[in-house]
Amino acid sequence: PKYTPAEVLSLIEQEGVQYVDLRFSDPYGQWQHLTIPAYELTLETFENGRGFDGSSIRGWQSIHESDMLAVPDPTTAFIDPFMEPKTLVMICDIYDPITRERYGRDTRYIAQKAEQYLKQTGIGDTAYYGPEAEFFIFDSVEFGTSANYAFWKVDSEEGWWNREITSSGYKIPHKRGYFPAPPLDKTYALRNEMVTILSQLGIVVELHHHEVATAGQGEIDIRYDSLVNQADKLFIYKYVVRMVAAKYGKYATFMPKVLPNDNGNGMHTHFSIWKNGENLFAGSEYAGVSEICLYAIGGILKHGPALTAFTNPTVNSYHRLVPGFEAPVRLAYSARNRSAAIRIPTYSQSPKAKRIEIRFPDPTCNPYLAFSAILMAAIDGIENRIHPGEPLDKDIYSLPPEELKDIPQLPGSLEESLKALENDYEFLLKGGVFTESFIEEWIQAKRKEIDELRFIPHPKEFEMYFDI
Ligand code: GLU
Ligand code: MG
Ligand code: MG
Repeated sequence: PKYTPAEVLSLIEQEGVQYVDLRFSDPYGQWQHLTIPAYELTLETFENGRGFDGSSIRGWQSIHESDMLAVPDPTTAFIDPFMEPKTLVMICDIYDPITRERYGRDTRYIAQKAEQYLKQTGIGDTAYYGPEAEFFIFDSVEFGTSANYAFWKVDSEEGWWNREITSSGYKIPHKRGYFPAPPLDKTYALRNEMVTILSQLGIVVELHHHEVATAGQGEIDIRYDSLVNQADKLFIYKYVVRMVAAKYGKYATFMPKVLPNDNGNGMHTHFSIWKNGENLFAGSEYAGVSEICLYAIGGILKHGPALTAFTNPTVNSYHRLVPGFEAPVRLAYSARNRSAAIRIPTYSQSPKAKRIEIRFPDPTCNPYLAFSAILMAAIDGIENRIHPGEPLDKDIYSLPPEELKDIPQLPGSLEESLKALENDYEFLLKGGVFTESFIEEWIQAKRKEIDELRFIPHPKEFEMYFDI
């Protein structure tokens, strides 16, 4: 249900809610929160918000202008299924207390502007997103870095590293996690519990399953929704997945590449644009899509390298975008081909179900930014009638080099992706959706992440170079 401020207050009354948790995303897609006792929430809070210090949020205000306002969005209210005493959660919009304007680094604001901009163009009124955020569940995780040493170790009952047959039995063989029934699938009950909770929160789940990797990799697919709503839901989704894992003393991670030599965590994103209740992507071109859809594909492929700075924004993201693990490496499209950056699913012939599946994003993205950037690339493709060329219906991983040479590649590293964004961001500025200063700061912050890693030798380097 979508509540009004008054309805939120009566819900608090009826349910005996004692705490109100105000949440918002930092620029990098991590949920932050602050809590007020329920008696502190009044109708006025929905107008004037709650003040907090924004200077310690990564990528936000500097220390000399740190006051910010979190204004709760009543339509996002839900009772936290994990917290005692009863806690009501709301997602917030961030304002500057002096100018009373929206804060430019609040990425939910960027997403709201992107939704508005789509309407302004007259192309469509709603963009729908269906993300498939994959994750791992581990029994134990150990990692750490020191000045000259880095290590990590993950462990799972299902793991390939416990190959010997033990009394705990039943191990999924390498890359065969998709998807034998229990007892091999040991995370089945956990996923069920996640789905039960998501459903109670009004997040409709279409299916869930074990994924290809051997160690507790899972996927839960939530029903499509519009840009801001779906991005909000993705934060709730990650929260629920992590909290259920934590309840059983386990760890869930959405990191794109955790296990070397096994599948990574993608976030395939199903995408379509609608107008007046009609799906503009359905038509009679290749694989049952419309001309508009082809142009949207053209825009996304053309701006693909720049987009990855938002859809694949971590150093780790590029360990996933390599051949052989069902993640895309080439900027091509196809109806069935899972090695292409964009796939047109053919499960359903109904025009309502016509959509494209963008396969390169991963779940370390901030969905407000990733979804907005995807929409802006699609709009650019549609406005400039950018045709995507011929589809590529072959397995790209096994194509000979001469057939591959004309197919552009996705960036091979975060640095390449940031360079691509530096050279191609005009399409994001349209309608004031992204600002130049936001993009500059993003690139700067992400380069810092690259440096943090550049200063530390990777453990593998010892194997490769120690004895030279
Ligand atoms: N885990 C694969 C990836 O990294 C995707 C597997 C699939 O759902 O097709 O994108
Ligand atoms: Mg999957
Ligand atoms: Mg998929």
